[in-house]
Amino acid sequence: MPTSRQFQRIRFILGDQLNLNHSWFNSIDPGTLYVLAEMQSELLYTRHHIQKITAFFLAMETFASQLSADGHSVLYLTLDDTVSDANLNELLARLTEQFNAGVIEFQRPDEFRLFQHLRNLDTPAKMIKEFDTEHFLVPFEQLGKHFKEGKAARLEAFYRRLRKQFNILMEMGAPTGGQWNYDSSNRKRLKKTDISSLPNPKTFHNDAAQVLERLNRHEIPYIGKETNIIQLPINRQQSLELLDFFCTHCLKMFGDFQDAMTQSSEHAWSLYHSRLSFSLNTKMLHPKEVVDRAINEFEKRNDIDISQIEGFVRQVLGWREYIRGIYWMNMPNYSKTNFLKANRNLPTYFWDGQTQMNCISRTVNQSLETAYAHHIQRLMVTGEFALLAGIEPTQVDEWYLGIYADAVEWVQKPNTRGMSQYADGGLVASKPYAASGNYINKMSDYCRDCSYNVKSRSDEDSCPFNSLYWHFIDRHRSLLEDNARLKMAYVSWDRFDEATRSQTLTRAHHCIENLESL
Ligand code: FAD
Ligand code: SF4
Repeated sequence: MPTSRQFQRIRFILGDQLNLNHSWFNSIDPGTLYVLAEMQSELLYTRHHIQKITAFFLAMETFASQLSADGHSVLYLTLDDTVSDANLNELLARLTEQFNAGVIEFQRPDEFRLFQHLRNLDTPAKMIKEFDTEHFLVPFEQLGKHFKEGKAARLEAFYRRLRKQFNILMEMGAPTGGQWNYDSSNRKRLKKTDISSLPNPKTFHNDAAQVLERLNRHEIPYIGKETNIIQLPINRQQSLELLDFFCTHCLKMFGDFQDAMTQSSEHAWSLYHSRLSFSLNTKMLHPKEVVDRAINEFEKRNDIDISQIEGFVRQVLGWREYIRGIYWMNMPNYSKTNFLKANRNLPTYFWDGQTQMNCISRTVNQSLETAYAHHIQRLMVTGEFALLAGIEPTQVDEWYLGIYADAVEWVQKPNTRGMSQYADGGLVASKPYAASGNYINKMSDYCRDCSYNVKSRSDEDSCPFNSLYWHFIDRHRSLLEDNARLKMAYVSWDRFDEATRSQTLTRAHHCIENLESL
């Protein structure tokens, strides 16, 4: 570790900037010191899943070792080394003096908080320079062409523009297969035979004992299951192996079972999902290489339907880039949005999984166990419950930001506040993702083993999602009635007789008053 040499330049790399293909690393400059640092301040602003923290630190350490092996000068600082630095500014000021560096360089952070922090550095360095992360398909400077602050922007138009611009799944100017979107064929439920043929998820066995010892010694608060073995990919090689596994074994069913959930298999937590979000969000993988690899698999085989590959491309090329645009065009005000004026506290079972609602218990326990849940578990189980129960969005944000290994604010926040909680009043979603227990029953086998009855609305044991759904529709009438996509819900509610409406609302009030003990 270079502690006494002088360096002209310090290049600071954040934990989610582990992009080995960045142009910074094209040549070796003896005057440049690369710094990666474990910082307490990054661990304390919310409670993170222990596997998330450990995976980030392991990935950072491995990245530093790789740069070093490639011949770069690298300083990796552990929590022990940064214990006296209150924040990044203090750390960088100290290092600038220590190495007599005249220039500090960093890649533009994807998170607003760090972006502001690094743009306002106060250090003895004469020059501070910002670089692009060279990660996203849409350059930062061009986001304004697609998104405007406070204006709704729909995924579909943006996604089609990107398909054309990058010539992805296009033939002679038209979408491959003749359709832009195969969403409607991506909603299959898993039957018994489907469940028995689920792939055995590829996981890794990364030793985390030393990092864990450090975290515990520094008494870092955390949530989730502590384990010495991290099964997430922690370097580019493992990330590429996971991508390969996904393309070989999961892509052919990805679209079909994208929205499905089950409790009836030990592979239920992974299904046909890629679990590439950690590799993508740490930038160990580039989104274009992920899309190209998947399309290459689709083209070389004849057992992958267009609906499967299109479903996957829509997530990576479409949703991921779109969500980033929404974030940057609307921050920092986006953090304060609360269109539905939700103000209840997040129930304790979000932190310990102790609830009789089987769908919530399964999803939360899986998340505590693995730091992962797939999209529909996040959106239509935990997210939907929080929406129906009227949980204050900042508390919902904190939960999602802490619990998932892939959670970084630029992607977590618009998914949570926008898509899931409708707190942005419709910038992301054209209507709230509100549904009764019937949706969960249709897409999963959770209800089979639940203490509540999914078929009932107002009995003592009726599924809380059912009455809360109608309560949601009823209580937000003035805000939502004019939404064309909710018209049928209001027509149905008004068609119920007075007694049914009253019993349903009584049951909903009971659920709300007893939210903690459901
Ligand atoms: P797959 O289902 O295999 O999809 C492939 C890839 O597409 C993902 O890895 C991801 O990079 C991208 N993708 C898919 N959906 C989205 C989306 N809605 N927004 C952005 N990218 C998407 N994703 C995160 O990466 N970090 C988060 O913190 C996060 N928080 C979320 C919170 C809520 C409330 C919801 C509803 C969704 C959230 N998502 C988040 C989006 C999505 O759920 C995850 O990207 C996905 O579940 C990750 O698992 P996977 O890699 O197996 O995805
Ligand atoms: Fe969830 Fe309701 Fe089904 Fe129980 S009955 S698993 S609470 S949707």
